[in-house]
Amino acid sequence: MTWSLHGKGVSRGIAIGVAHIVRRDALELYEYTIAEPEVPAEIARLERAIDDAKAHLAGMREKIPAHTPADIAAFIDTHLLMLEDAMLTDEPKRLIRERRCNAEWALKLQRDMLVAAFDQMDDPYLRTRRDDVDHVINRILRILLNHAPMAHENTETALDGAVLVADDLSPADTLLMQHHGIAAFVTEYGGPTSHTAILARSLGVPGVVGVHHARRFIREGETLIVDGGEGLVIGEADQRITEHYRLRRDERNKRVSNLARLKRAPTVTADGVAIELQANVELELDYDAARAAGARGVGLFRTEFLYMNRVDVPTEEEHFAAYRRLVEAFRNQPVTIRTLDIGADKQIEASLSTRVNVANPALGLRAVRLALKEPELFLPQLRAIVRVSALGQVRLMIPMLSHLDEVAQVTELVRRIQADCRQQGVDFDESMPIGGMIEVPAAAAYADGFARALDFLSIGTNDLIQYAVAIDRVNEEVSYLYDPLNPGVLRLISMAIRAADAGDCPIAMCGEMAGDVRYTKLLLGLGLRIFSVHSSLLLEVKQAIAATTLEDAKSTVARALRTADPQRFKSLMATLGTA
Ligand code: PEP
Ligand code: MG
Repeated sequence: MTWSLHGKGVSRGIAIGVAHIVRRDALELYEYTIAEPEVPAEIARLERAIDDAKAHLAGMREKIPAHTPADIAAFIDTHLLMLEDAMLTDEPKRLIRERRCNAEWALKLQRDMLVAAFDQMDDPYLRTRRDDVDHVINRILRILLNHAPMAHENTETALDGAVLVADDLSPADTLLMQHHGIAAFVTEYGGPTSHTAILARSLGVPGVVGVHHARRFIREGETLIVDGGEGLVIGEADQRITEHYRLRRDERNKRVSNLARLKRAPTVTADGVAIELQANVELELDYDAARAAGARGVGLFRTEFLYMNRVDVPTEEEHFAAYRRLVEAFRNQPVTIRTLDIGADKQIEASLSTRVNVANPALGLRAVRLALKEPELFLPQLRAIVRVSALGQVRLMIPMLSHLDEVAQVTELVRRIQADCRQQGVDFDESMPIGGMIEVPAAAAYADGFARALDFLSIGTNDLIQYAVAIDRVNEEVSYLYDPLNPGVLRLISMAIRAADAGDCPIAMCGEMAGDVRYTKLLLGLGLRIFSVHSSLLLEVKQAIAATTLEDAKSTVARALRTADPQRFKSLMATLGTA
């Protein structure tokens, strides 16, 4: 009888394949005492195992195909670096010396200690780091215990089209999946932010994680259907269900390959109006996808990640290195670096202010407000942006503006930094554009003022909607009010676009609404001409733009903004395809 297991879908796509179960036989570890004279030999045994682990990983890294995004190699580099880390190498040696225990036991003790330290933290990113420690130590332990490589580690084994079912997969396992042509994977542990999930998404391998006891239910060799979008694993499917999924898989594959044909196509509406399509990027993994989809530069580069998961403040050089990689990846194209947007839901250790518990943090000290309050967080970033402007078409964007004074203060800081650079003979772009985000209703209502003071604007609907309808996005009780189609929200967007147009100031939209194809026609009708969307959505949006006749969209939207009849509003929205 057909059964199904549920987990978290972390990489979209549907696959039908034969299960291959990865059974890492639990590593049985025992402590035994090493006689004093044997201690150097035991340490040498540990060192050899670490060297072998390094050689194995380095070999794997070399086999990564040349076109693979740089970040993928970086995941392996992280493990290689960990194999150099004193916490993993020197500490176990100290334990061998002091406890006179075997190398396996010393590694186990060190792993327990590190894992316990990571478990104290409830940040999902740090949990990923904990998984890394586990993967790296297990790799050394397997070598010490002379365990044979598993089938998926053996590059000779034929696993083409199989569905890998494992307790957990390391980034290195994920790379091997690509090598083997594995159709999908299912794991018992792991979350959507794990490195494995990120890698799987970028490699396009459908995956479901967090399927508890998957290996107890699934038998080797049985046929599985994996729906990586829904987080579903189906077994013993009857013909009707299998046919349904086969159809969906084929349709999806067709859609993806049809979209791929749009890569080189210009972004124009059905009536021939050119629209600008830019990318929102965060990880370097996104850069290739953005370029391949034909994005015209970067409309939003979120810089928060530089501040996260650390206790200190990123240095100017760290900022500079990250921005330089971005600018180099998008040669001759504009890149919009948004200054720090920390506070509220994006907490960091290094800021004193964000650690103070206050009511309504979304209305408190965040984004540009925090930046102006804590110059030690902000100034190294500003200086790095000014310096990197010498290398390409860099634009600086200020988040969450609510008052023109904030523009004046940031501009003043930038001018001072530029004056210093001039004096020190440091290169920079004298005409680097400075723009701002329209995320606060007061800024939308006063967009004409911001348009005069800035070189460009970008509407951040994620925040604009929550502030416009006065809800806290993390409060489930009122989440039903979070609606991009609220007529008041649409009026704010329309007002901002019209004011910017009248002031000859380019205005984009970089919130999620811009990347949702249900709203493409509506946004075009509202007058939006610059869309900045996540790289994975660029082609879908390009397709929706191509299907829109601008004149039709404009007149429908004008009627919708005017009507006071909710039913008529609804039906006009439906005409625009928003349902
Ligand atoms: C937004 O608010 O729409 C936006 C793009 O910024 P973030 O999602 O980073 O707050
Ligand atoms: Mg925002």
